[in-house]
Formats: sequence, C-alpha cells, structure tokens
Amino acid sequence: MQRSTKIVATLGPSSSDAAVLERMFAAGVDVVRLNFSHGSAEDHLKRAELVRETCRKVGRAVGIMADLQGPKIRVGRFQEGRVTLAVGSPFALDARCELGDATQAGLDYKELPRDVRPGDVLLLDDGKIVLDVRAVEGERIHTVVRHGGTLSNNKGINRQGGGLTAPALTSKDMDDIRTAAKMNADYLAVSFPKSGADMHMARELMRAAGGKSMLIAKIERAEAIPALEDIMHACDGIMVARGDLAVEVGDASVPALQKRMIRQARELNKLTITATQMMESMISSPVPTRAEVSDVANAVLDGTDAVMLSAESASGQYPVETIAAMNRICIEAEKSQSVALESEFLNRVFQRVDQSIAMAALFTAYHLKVKAIASLTESGSTALWMSRLNCGVPIYALTAQTSTRYRCTLFRDVYPLMVKYVGHDREELLAEAEAVLLANGVVRPGDIIVLTIGEPIGKSGGTNTMKIVKVGEQRART
Ligand code: PGA
Ligand code: MN
Repeated sequence: MQRSTKIVATLGPSSSDAAVLERMFAAGVDVVRLNFSHGSAEDHLKRAELVRETCRKVGRAVGIMADLQGPKIRVGRFQEGRVTLAVGSPFALDARCELGDATQAGLDYKELPRDVRPGDVLLLDDGKIVLDVRAVEGERIHTVVRHGGTLSNNKGINRQGGGLTAPALTSKDMDDIRTAAKMNADYLAVSFPKSGADMHMARELMRAAGGKSMLIAKIERAEAIPALEDIMHACDGIMVARGDLAVEVGDASVPALQKRMIRQARELNKLTITATQMMESMISSPVPTRAEVSDVANAVLDGTDAVMLSAESASGQYPVETIAAMNRICIEAEKSQSVALESEFLNRVFQRVDQSIAMAALFTAYHLKVKAIASLTESGSTALWMSRLNCGVPIYALTAQTSTRYRCTLFRDVYPLMVKYVGHDREELLAEAEAVLLANGVVRPGDIIVLTIGEPIGKSGGTNTMKIVKVGEQRART
C-alpha cells in the first residue's frame, strides 16, 4: 500500500548505525533530518555519507535535510549531561558558566542577560521547564523554578510572548550552510526566519557555497506569522515548527495556524512539514497515544507534505517502531480524505507553459480516473505543481537526474523513479519510462496513464507536452 504523505526522521544517537538506518528505510522513512543544533560538522558529514550509502545499497531515494541551529538561545552543557530541577528551587543562567550543574547553566547567546527583566517567564525545552526571572546581575540571570523536571544539554530557551531577537543567521549557521553544500543536502531548513530577506540571505550563502538545496523556512517565531506570505515567496517550503512556535504564540493558537499555513503554502506551490511532538510518547513507549495518532492523522488531512519526528527517532528507544506507526496512521488517514479537485482548481493562477501542462495533466488524470501520472522531469517542478492539489492519482517523477530524484522525496503524492536513458530520442525515452513503471509494479499493461514530457528532450523547465497513454500499446505497435 502506497503512502502519499512523507515521513521525515531526525537522526541522532538512536539512529546512526547502518543496521538501524536500514530498518528505518524499510519502515518507510523518506527524508532524514540532520539537526545542526547537535554534533560536529564531521558527525553530520559522516551521517550523510552513511545515508547515501544505504540508499545505494537498498535502491531507494531518501532525501537529506540539513537543519540549521539558527539564533536559538540555548543552555550550555552539563557536567553530567543533564540535571533535575525541583519546583521552587533557585536556578541561574550565567553567560560565564562553562559546565552547568543543579544550580546553574551556561548560555550560548551571551547577550541574553541584557534582554531579560525581572518578572519575565523563560520557557526551556519547548516549555517543559518554566523559570521565573527574579533578578539580573551582570552576566547572571537569577530565576526560580516554576515547572521542574529533567533538563539536558543544549535545550532551547524562549521568553513567553517572544521578542528575544538575536540576528537571523549566526556565524555557526554560515559555516553549517557550507557543510550542507558539501554533503549535497537536498533540503536546508532555516531556523527562526523573521522575513523573506532572511531566506534570501540563506539562499545566497548556499549558492555561494555551490549547493542547490531547496530552502525550508521554519515558522517558529511570533514575528514570522504576519510575514508569512513574504517568507513563503522566498522559500521552497515551510516547516510548522510547533515546538518553538507554541512557546512564542501560545500553544492553543498553533492548531489553527497549522491549518492556515498548510493551505496557504499549497496555494503558493510550496512544501510543508508538520513537526514536533507528533509521536512524543514513543520516545520511551512502543505504542503511540490516541492523541498522537489523531495529531498525525489530522496533519495528513490538513494536506501536509510530510510529518516529522525529532527526539522520537534521534534519541528515543523505538526509532523504527515510531516510523512504522506513522506509516500506518498516514495510510489510514489518506483513505478517509476526500478527493475534490474542482473547487480550488479553477482559482489557480499560472502563466508558465510547464505549469499549464502540469495543471492540464492533473485535471485530465482526475476526470479520466487514470492509474498514474508519469512526469518525465529534469528539475522536478512539474511534479511539484501537480502535487499541490489532491487529484487522488499517484505522480511518478521519472528522471535521470540523481539530485532531482532526491529533492522529490518530500513532495506529497510524488514517487521518484530512475530512468537511465539520457539521449534525445523521444520514443526510446517513452519506452523506458513505461518499462520502469511496469518493472516497479505501479502499472500493468492496458492501464491508462497521463504522461508529461518536454520536447526537445533534456531541457530543464521544458515540459510542454501531455500524452494519454495505454500501457503496452506503444510497444506493441513498434
Ligand atoms: P527544532 O525546530 O526541533 O530545531 O527546535 C522545530 C520546532 O521548533 O518545532
Ligand atoms: Mn525550533
């Protein structure tokens, strides 16, 4: 059973050896996320190499998303890796502290003591720990623990209401963009952008480093909400980064924002990833809660391209089981979604020839109830446009370009497949496309499919032809 929605899994200590990775692939992961908030550049390069190697070994394209730390304000590291904070006890955040303990923690953003005031409420680890600021003395913030618990290395700090503004891209982010370019990351996620300009800056840096990653803007600041349209025009996709977003705008506002963001992104031909705490209890439990099952299913019904795992797959006890659970929840939710193309379809605005063909193919596929759409694509953009509306027909992106195959891994309803033919003979290419679809068992002789292609063959952005094909017929004639 094919799944339309994609699964993104963060790699970490629980998911770094080849055997676990292979089992995660088999369970259905589509994109892995390398979280640059943790680990060194070498760690990430090594992980990326292992992912690519596994792809070659098992013959499946799994994309790589490099996720920048961004100007997130974080506590430093602890002597023991973690501490337990008790309600009512004093706890200090100190810019000069090197290794924290049960009384104090260090800070990566040394300016924080200048930003906060007595009376501020600081939320740590996505709000799991709450500290009341009592006083600020030079480099040291004195607080009292309101909600306690375990606090481990490098957890984030937010102020209730937002407004802790460090610059958009830190010097670490700039180094990390070069690392992402070096590993040919298929996607680059930018943390805490406030505007389209922040995304343009990341794209410029990526280009200068020789990388071609698609850019994902993580929507996780209060300031990003009024700037959504500006940000979307400057990126290829967004992440509904519910962890930080909920802290900044209040948790109760997030579900409606999630729906609005996904709808708006699809209208603007952008990708969406729904992230954070989707299967949180599976960090230490082999089964999800009922609420988690509903959350994943609702994100699918909202139309998200992908659902994402963070600690569940990076440091949890059940990385493979969590992916398997997400897989079955997505498949079941997709069965119940309504396929309704018309109402939205007529409002689509487009001028480009390739986009017109994509829309025509979608419309035809929907009404003819064909078995599949096959898009012979150089850049993947035809497949992206077609996947922005739900026509209930799977879209196969057939390409000889390795990079294009990997960048389609996040697109909902799109399945990248490799064709080997790189010449310019149309008939030969069409014959191979059919053979690939047949070999993968996604069509059978006699099935009707819609096919898009650019002529002359081999030009990026050149899709200008739509063809309705009965599988096997062409072969029989020649
Ligand atoms: P993070 O981003 O996991 O890098 O913090 C996601 C979020 O904030 O939800
Ligand atoms: Mn975040």
